[in-house]
Amino acid sequence: MISKLKNDCDVLIIGAGPAGSTAATILSGEKGKKVIVLEKGHFPRYHVGESLIPHCYDTLERIGMVDRLNGAGFQSKQSVQFVNPDGELSAPFYFSKHTDHPRAKTWQVDRATFDTMMMERAREAGAEVREGIKVLDFLEEEGVIVGVTAEDESGKVFEVRASMTMDATGRDALFQRKKKWRKRDPKLNKIAIWTNYKGAKRDPGVDEGATTVAYVQGKGWFWNIPLKDDIVSTGIVAERDYLYRDGRDLHAIYQREIKENKWVEEHLSEGEQIGEYWVTGEYSYRAENCATDGLLLIGDAFAFLDPVFSSGVYLALTTGSLGADAVADALEANDVSAERFLGYGERVCKGIEWMRKLVYAFYDENFSFKDVAMKYAEVRRDLTDCLIGDLIDKDYGQLFDRVSEFAELPEDLPHGKTVAGSAIT
Ligand SMILES: Cc1cc2nc3c(=O)[nH]c(=O)nc-3n(C[C@H](O)[C@H](O)[C@H](O)COP(=O)(O)OP(=O)(O)OC[C@H]3O[C@@H](n4cnc5c(N)ncnc54)[C@H](O)[C@@H]3O)c2cc1C
Repeated sequence: MISKLKNDCDVLIIGAGPAGSTAATILSGEKGKKVIVLEKGHFPRYHVGESLIPHCYDTLERIGMVDRLNGAGFQSKQSVQFVNPDGELSAPFYFSKHTDHPRAKTWQVDRATFDTMMMERAREAGAEVREGIKVLDFLEEEGVIVGVTAEDESGKVFEVRASMTMDATGRDALFQRKKKWRKRDPKLNKIAIWTNYKGAKRDPGVDEGATTVAYVQGKGWFWNIPLKDDIVSTGIVAERDYLYRDGRDLHAIYQREIKENKWVEEHLSEGEQIGEYWVTGEYSYRAENCATDGLLLIGDAFAFLDPVFSSGVYLALTTGSLGADAVADALEANDVSAERFLGYGERVCKGIEWMRKLVYAFYDENFSFKDVAMKYAEVRRDLTDCLIGDLIDKDYGQLFDRVSEFAELPEDLPHGKTVAGSAIT
């Protein structure tokens, strides 16, 4: 049975991850809108994606999270370092050498805590966040999304109606899947296997919180993300056939692969593996469109990019923030037609494309950051800006002209910056 609640809010947000909570905080706290967030889980809950990048700071500051994060005891992250297939560490890249802005110190967050803090911030800003509510489908009237049907944990199904709906369901990407809008990246289709270690070797001093990317010769790479409480998040990203060549036992695969890089082996052997192994495929994708009448996609529910440069939470925060602005403007104008979100789609896709080019370069065996920086000193600053997530409204044309000498770069994808609505011909 479907029972009906009345038009309940200005904005309905599905999912209370970083994208949804950011949008909820801005729309209710800053823009004065009535916001309901429906989250299927109960927080705190595990989530991968612990390493933030410096430009996360901008949105976190906007929503009043910086002091809270500084006080939460998260591992401070001040650098990124790369380890070659022989296990040799190159000189770490310290953010403070690039900028003296406070964003030079970012955080390695355990997502259970971080996401809970973000959700609580949205509540404090005035959003009504309901946990344990799973959205099942979208309500569509004359081509306009006017809310959702959802189910609580007792199995009761009900409707929630809103002037605008935002899909922030992460990689579940509810709307994208229902409409078959998902477009996989033509090349970036790896899988990842990951787990946690306790008591693994940590580098001393300022390097303690570095994210380490360690290559496996011609095959892929490991991440090593030190978290608080002596925990390390560690994972490998590579082709499916390579990782599954001897079967699908995740523990066996992981223990085999650790031996492929001496730095990884040396660091993890001091610790003990804890908890589960996780695996995911369908690595990089973007929705065909970013919006339709009455609905906007944000975070992973819109696009996901291979996480080698830890861009996921940054993109979730950024699309949450830009999306909230676009939605507030639409509500003020009393016009929620899809065309209003074309600017959002353009800006976000352009930003993602810069990072996507960098990801393609990373996977090209002829590319190294050092070679580009040595040959073309004039693009060093841009290279770093791009890596630390200064992606929106920037032009990195000159940088990628130079990078294209060393790596095959992709054309911009045509989709995502487009919208699909009843008024679109
Ligand atoms: C292997 C791997 C490693 C990664 N490493 C990093 C990293 O180091 N740094 C980084 O920045 N990013 C990383 N990411 C990416 C990062 O995890 C995501 O980009 C980020 O979590 C996206 O935030 P979000 O709010 O869009 O989605 P999510 O954080 O996934 O939140 C979505 C929320 O929606 C809820 N939901 C889903 N469906 C429904 C429904 N039907 N009804 C109600 N609620 C629903 C979910 O329960 C969830 O809480 C990584 C990703 C992967 C796969």
